Amino acid sequence: MKNFIKSFYTNNFIYKGKEKLSKLTILALIILDIFVLSTLFQGIDFQTKVINNPNTKFPYDCQDVITYSSSMDDFNSYLYNNYNYDSKYQNIKDLEVDERCNTIFDKVELIKNKIDIKNLKKQNEELNNKSYNLSNQLTYLKDNYNTILFEKMSEQEIDKSIIKGEVSAENIKEKYELLTKELESIDKEKEKLSNEFKEENLVKDLISYLALNKDTILIDIEKAQKFYSIKYELVILLFLIPLVAIFFYLMKRYLHKDKYILYIIFKNILIVTLIPTFISFFSLINIFIPKIFLEKVLMFFYSLEIPFIVYYLAIAIAVLIFIFIIIKIQKKFKEDNEKLKNNNISIIDAYNKNICIKCGNRVDFTLMNYCPCCQNQLKIECKSCHANTIKGLDYCSNCGSNIEK
Ligand SMILES: [Zn+2]
Ligand SMILES: [Zn+2]
Repeated sequence: MKNFIKSFYTNNFIYKGKEKLSKLTILALIILDIFVLSTLFQGIDFQTKVINNPNTKFPYDCQDVITYSSSMDDFNSYLYNNYNYDSKYQNIKDLEVDERCNTIFDKVELIKNKIDIKNLKKQNEELNNKSYNLSNQLTYLKDNYNTILFEKMSEQEIDKSIIKGEVSAENIKEKYELLTKELESIDKEKEKLSNEFKEENLVKDLISYLALNKDTILIDIEKAQKFYSIKYELVILLFLIPLVAIFFYLMKRYLHKDKYILYIIFKNILIVTLIPTFISFFSLINIFIPKIFLEKVLMFFYSLEIPFIVYYLAIAIAVLIFIFIIIKIQKKFKEDNEKLKNNNISIIDAYNKNICIKCGNRVDFTLMNYCPCCQNQLKIECKSCHANTIKGLDYCSNCGSNIEK
C-alpha cells in the first residue's frame, strides 16, 4: 500500500522533466481532481437516479395505487401519499413519469379536491370510537350475566351490587338489546360513509381506469425493473467511457508532444475518471458471476464433508488471476520505462547528469562515444556538419541544425 501510494505519487505528481512541479501546482492538481471526481459522481447520480430509473418512471406513489388498486374505493387508502424523500431535480423527474401514472395522479388529485377526505376520516374515527365503546359495554354485560345470576341467587341488594351501571337481572337483557341496536346503527353509519365515497363518480372513474390499465402497467414496471441492475452499470459506463477516451487521447497527445504539464493534468483527470469506471465495471462482473453456481459447488463439497475446499479453491483462483494481472502490469510498466528512456526529457536528464540512459552508469558525453559498461551509443554523426553530436537530442551540439530522429 505504501509502495502503491509512493508510485502513484511519483507517477502523477513528480514531474519527470527539466522542472519540478511546485507545491502550489500539486495543490491545484489535487483540487482539480476532487472537483472532477465529485462532478462525475453527481453526473452518475443524475444519470441513474433521476433519469433511466424505473422508480422515476413509475414513482412509488403510482406503484402503490396500482398495487392496492382494489382498495382505492376506500377513503382510508388515501392516508399515505407523497413519498418525495429526495425532491432533488423534482421538475425533471416529473417529466420522466409514465403517462398512465400521471393520469392516475390527476384522478387521485381530483378526488382529493372534491372530497374532504380528512373530514371523512374524522367522522369515521368518531364512529369507530363509539362502536368500540359500545362493544366494550356489551362485553361487560356478557361477562357479568352469570355474576348477576349468582347475585340473584344470593339475594344481594342492588345498591350493594358489585356490578357497575345499575345493571340488574331485570334490566340486563333490555340494556343488552339497546346497546346492540346502537352498535348496529353505528355500523350502518360507517357503511353509509364508505358507500358514499364509493358511489362518487370520480372514485368510480379511478377504479375503472385502474382495472383497465393495472395489468399492462404492472408488466411494464416488471420489465423496467428486471434488468435494472445491469442497465444501471451500463448507463454509468456509457456516461464515463467517452470521458475516459477523451482524457486518454489528450494525455497521449501531450506526452507525444512533450508538453508535460498538460500531460500530467490529463493523466490526473484520466485516473480520477477511471476510479468510478472500474467500480462500475467490477460491479457489472459481479452481477454476472453466477452466485447460484457457487452455492451449488459449496453444496457439493459440503456433501463430501469438505466444504472448506471451496474457500481454498476461491483463494487459489484469486491468486492465479492476480498473478496474471500483476505480471501484465509489470510487463507494461517495464515497456513504459523503455519508452520513457527514449523521450527527450529523459535523454536531457541523462545528459545533464552524465548518466548512460540504458544502464544508468556514469559516462562523459564530451569524451565518450559509447558507454563502456553497456555498449550503448552515446553520439551520432550530424548529417550537416559531420561532427559527432549527442544521440537522441534534437539539435547538433556543433552546428545547431535539426537532427532527424
Ligand atoms: Zn551504459
Ligand atoms: Zn552539426
